Amino acid sequence: MYQVNERGYYGEFGGAYIPEMLFPNVEELRQCYVEIMNEPKFQKEFQDLLRDYVGRPSPLYYAKRLSAHYHTNIYLKREDLNHTGAHKINNTIGQILMAKRLGKTRIIAETGAGQHGVATATVCALMGIQCIVYMGAVDIKRQAPNVSRMKMLGAEVRPAESGSKTLKDATNEAIRDWINNPENTHYIIGSVVGPHPYPDMVARFQSVISEEMKWQLKEQTGNENPDIIIACVGGGSNAAGAYYHYMDEKEVRLVAVEAAGHGIHSGESAATSVLGTKGIIHGSRTLLMQTDDGQIIEPYSLSAGLDYPGIGPLHAHLIDSGRAEAVSITDQEALDAAFFCSRQEGIIPALETAHAFAAMDKIKYSEKDVVVINLSGRGDKDLQTYIKHLK
Ligand SMILES: *Cc1c(COP(=O)(O)O)cnc(C)c1O
Repeated sequence: MYQVNERGYYGEFGGAYIPEMLFPNVEELRQCYVEIMNEPKFQKEFQDLLRDYVGRPSPLYYAKRLSAHYHTNIYLKREDLNHTGAHKINNTIGQILMAKRLGKTRIIAETGAGQHGVATATVCALMGIQCIVYMGAVDIKRQAPNVSRMKMLGAEVRPAESGSKTLKDATNEAIRDWINNPENTHYIIGSVVGPHPYPDMVARFQSVISEEMKWQLKEQTGNENPDIIIACVGGGSNAAGAYYHYMDEKEVRLVAVEAAGHGIHSGESAATSVLGTKGIIHGSRTLLMQTDDGQIIEPYSLSAGLDYPGIGPLHAHLIDSGRAEAVSITDQEALDAAFFCSRQEGIIPALETAHAFAAMDKIKYSEKDVVVINLSGRGDKDLQTYIKHLK
């Protein structure tokens, strides 16, 4: 019911709004992605790499002290323990195998904070495939450690010098490259965004998260369904993975946590579900932050991974239809949650993930509930930010 339809829509969101010159690339992918993903040989290679390279299954951990504090039962799905430190690797492994299967010899990607760039550079090194990552010139300065990581892994980082020199300009450069190199190049998109079939393909690769949650919860609680699943939403890929096998189980509440930056109505925010209106961004119809005449409003969040002006079409549909509850968390609330989680459980979460933890203070739950928080990534990358707020 919440799956994409044949035309690439989730309700009224999704589709493929692309320049005509991109049509052959996207169409090639659309025609065969499901078939390829279902091939036993593809599945075997994907599952083997998830196990032996990424380190899956990621543990489902009962957080005793957090549970006692909140008077409920909190389980943490530990995507932070994956190779490269976040969920993004699940998708890039899947897409590099897809690219190989399609005979592509060159990979391009766009990155904002550099996390998706690093995950892409990693799988390109793994497969010995050329990798070019487009990144805004401003972001290259702001995210120097990740630029070094990508170079260490053998990728070429190309600066985008147009516009605000950030993520959307890097995306434009990547699309231009793809139009010019349709034969040999695959474009690895890093979240459940972009034209159909990307949102569905990325959600399927990330769905391993909820697939594991089902048997892990069954083992630990006797029931494969939790009462509540909480995940942060930038584009929405870690949330899509955590929700995927529960979307049609109506009794499982889905909580989508967005970044409110300095406050939802402060003018510096990324709370798309509240501030967003229907429009087209990165090739799909979804909710995005835009002016009355359709110019994209620059989003703001202290966390680079949530600093995105739209949300994927699946999440626009889940929220618009009332299936998912949206919660907005400010920078300060996320910082407080990051310190609390670190000292309560000995786990330093990514700043993005800290938004999901902070949602515990905003939602209703009962003592008997089983709550799963998807721990999208680890906080090493955010230490510089945390240190400034150390107390
Ligand atoms: C990129 C990132 C996110 C946000 O991306 P989604 O596609 O919304 O999951 C969240 N957490 C971490 C750790 C990330 O690296």
